[in-house]
Parts: sequence; structure tokens; C-alpha cells
Amino acid sequence: MQTIQQDTSVVIIGAGVAGLTLATFLQKSGVACVVIERRERDYIEVRQRAGVVEARAVDMFVRWGLADQLLAGPVAQTIDYRINGASRVFDIALGEESTSRFCTQQMLVNNLLRELLDNMHGDVRFGVEDVFIQNDNASRPTVAYADANGMCDITCDYIVGCDGDRGVSRASIPEGVLTKYSHEFGYAWLAALVEAPVTGHPIMGMSDHGFVAQLPRGPQRSRYYLQCALEDGPGDWPDERIWGAIRLRLNDETITNATVHDKDFVALRSVVYAPMQYRKLFLAGDVAHLVPPAGAKGMNMALYDVDVLATALVKAVLEHDEAGLNNYSDTVLPHVWRYEEFSAWMTDTMHDAGDPGQHGGLRQMIARARIDALFESPGAARLHAEFQRGTV
Ligand SMILES: Cc1cc2nc3c(=O)[nH]c(=O)nc-3n(C[C@H](O)[C@H](O)[C@H](O)COP(=O)(O)OP(=O)(O)OC[C@H]3O[C@@H](n4cnc5c(N)ncnc54)[C@H](O)[C@@H]3O)c2cc1C
Repeated sequence: MQTIQQDTSVVIIGAGVAGLTLATFLQKSGVACVVIERRERDYIEVRQRAGVVEARAVDMFVRWGLADQLLAGPVAQTIDYRINGASRVFDIALGEESTSRFCTQQMLVNNLLRELLDNMHGDVRFGVEDVFIQNDNASRPTVAYADANGMCDITCDYIVGCDGDRGVSRASIPEGVLTKYSHEFGYAWLAALVEAPVTGHPIMGMSDHGFVAQLPRGPQRSRYYLQCALEDGPGDWPDERIWGAIRLRLNDETITNATVHDKDFVALRSVVYAPMQYRKLFLAGDVAHLVPPAGAKGMNMALYDVDVLATALVKAVLEHDEAGLNNYSDTVLPHVWRYEEFSAWMTDTMHDAGDPGQHGGLRQMIARARIDALFESPGAARLHAEFQRGTV
């Protein structure tokens, strides 16, 4: 079969939130790019995960002139930190007007696809297989793939890997170039999408029986997260057990069962790969760093990476100035580490403050003291709010 030869400025591997945002910024700036994605479009359009675009990322979309096209309306930014059912509501905006926007990851991805494909006539190729990266000392790298039309070889100036933790881009970097930093927390979350809205504030619930959270996912739905054992699977958590655990951990017998649409199990871990570039290949989003979801930062960190990278790529391609690209990893890694720290703080605090079987009574009381400080110390509250808004 004949291989089609093509040429572009930037090839982006992966059409998740990182790849599509980057492509939209580049397309809007007049930089030619091609996105290749191994899944079909209809799969990408229904994948559910994150819920809130933090204030910093909203400012980023405003700066790129895309906020109104991509994001939903403002969201009241409060969190009900509940210990054994006793509720204390933390105001992330600290009395000011909240600029964070409610926008599920799925809504953002759909809006990006509409903007990039329908309005900007961008080039996203779904259902590709056998992606192969050649990024040696040749002046221009290539990305090869196969799809229903045959085989294609794209020569480009730069490649961006936005293909998540299990993609091909990071794996193409020779052994010994990247350092992997990782930590396993030793427990998992059961994520259950349910047909029941959040009626008050989003809840982060710590209980002697384990952690539970309820976060909004649209006007009729919410997602519950329940701390569970690493080895647990769907067979261990029939719907009746899920609702029983929610009532027990929130200390609220008035909660009634509702339809559970899906159940996912996520082992909680933190991972960073550094540096986030190798020759003409740049990494952005989950491919370079993972955070446990307790801080709600994974998507927002991916958005930070692509903001820096899009600015650097526009300069490199349109003005032949590679300074920003050369410094990409050094520019974003301090931000990555700040939000790795915040996500680990949230994870340890939310779980240690709950079941003492986790790390013992001393750690339970220390974690509860950390929560108290958020309500009693203006300094602690301000720092926490800034992390939540993404402005640290
Ligand atoms: C349960 C859960 C809850 C979460 N909640 C939040 C939250 O509240 N807030 C928040 O900010 N973040 C949250 N996150 C994290 C967030 O979902 C991720 O950080 C985000 O999806 C990262 O975006 P990405 O584009 O880097 O990766 P992805 O969204 O994973 O996209 C990667 C894309 O690359 C494609 N791909 C993979 N391999 C290849 C290949 N070989 N060739 C071509 N394409 C390939 C994949 O199909 C995929 O479409 C949560 C995550 C989970 C699991």
C-alpha cells in the first residue's frame, strides 16, 4: 500500500483536552497543525471526567479570545468540608465574585471540537493506529500512522505529545532521558456518575468510615467519589452498597438511592516525568504528570502546559524565535510541582482526616487541624483559595 507524504508545522498526538486546546490556539494564531487521535470522535465526545475550569484557566481562555465560545457560565465556588456529617462551607472566592466557570471536561472537549473543526476548519484525524515517531538528529521529525485510508507520513517542525499516560509519545523518548518521580497513596476511588444533582454545595466528606465527595456534573447529575481498596472492582460495589456507604459517610439517612450510570475505579497516585521535552518533541498534560483527583487539578494543569507551549510554538513558527520552546520544560515544571504538592496535600488531608485505619489517630487529628486552620486562619484560607483558583 502506498504511503501518503504530508508536511505541516506541528503534529499533535492525542485529542483530549490538552491536544484540542493546543490545536485551537495554534489554528487561531495561523500555525498549521494536524491532530491525530486513536479513538473515534463519538468516543471522545462522551468521555466524562473533570468539572470546573479554574479561575486562572478562565483568564487564559479570555486572553486567547475563546472564553465565550468554549466555557459555560460562572460557578459559585464553595466547598462543604464535612467531617462525620458536620458541615463547614469554604468560600473559594473569599467574598469576591467567582471567575471560575462550570464546564465539564466533556463539555469543553465538545466545544473545542466544534470550534476547531466546524468554525476554524482544523485538521483532526480520528481512529489512527500504529503511530510512530521519528525524532532523531534530522532537522525535521516525522510522525507516521495508519488509518482506514492507508498509511501517512507527516514531516513537521515540532511534535507535541498530548496522548495521556499510556500513549506513544513519552515511550518514544530513549531510556535515561526522563526522570520519573512517583508516589502511590495506597487506596483508590470509586467514581460513580449518578442521576441526582448537588442540591447544596459540592461536598468533600471526611468520615471515620472513609472519604466521600459529591461534585456537580450538570443540572441533573453529580459524581460521587468513595474511597475504596486498591483491589476493588465493580463486583465489590453493587448500587445498594454505594448508597449505603454514601449515607453512612455523610451521616445523612435522608439521602435516597438514584440511578447509577457508571462506575470507575481510579488508583490514587502522583507522577511527574522531567524534563517535558526531548529534541523536537514536547509533552503536555497527563503524559507528563498525573495528580490524584482530590485537588481537581489534572485538566487545569494540562491547560497551563498548553498555554505556555502554544505561546512558544507561535513564536517559533511565525517569528523563528525558539527561546520559549527551549525553556518550555523549565517554565512549566515549577507550576507542575506546586500543583502536585497541592494535590498531595488535599489527598492526604481528606483521607487521613477520615478513617483512622488509614494512617492512625495522630494523623487523623493533624489532618482535622489542617481543615480547622482553613476556617480560623485568614492566611491559611487565602493560600487555600489561591490554590483552588489556580493562581499560586
Ligand atoms: C476520575 C477522574 C476525575 C478527574 N477530575 C478532575 C477534575 O475535577 N478536575 C481536573 O482538572 N482534572 C480532573 N481529572 C484529570 C483530567 O481528566 C486529566 O488530567 C485530563 O484528561 C488530562 O488531559 P490530557 O489531554 O492530557 O489527556 P487525556 O484527556 O487522557 O487525552 C489523551 C488523548 O490521547 C489519546 N491517545 C492515547 N494514545 C494515543 C496514541 N497512541 N495515538 C493517538 N492518540 C492517543 C487518547 O485516546 C486521548 O483522547 C480527573 C481524572 C479522573 C480519572
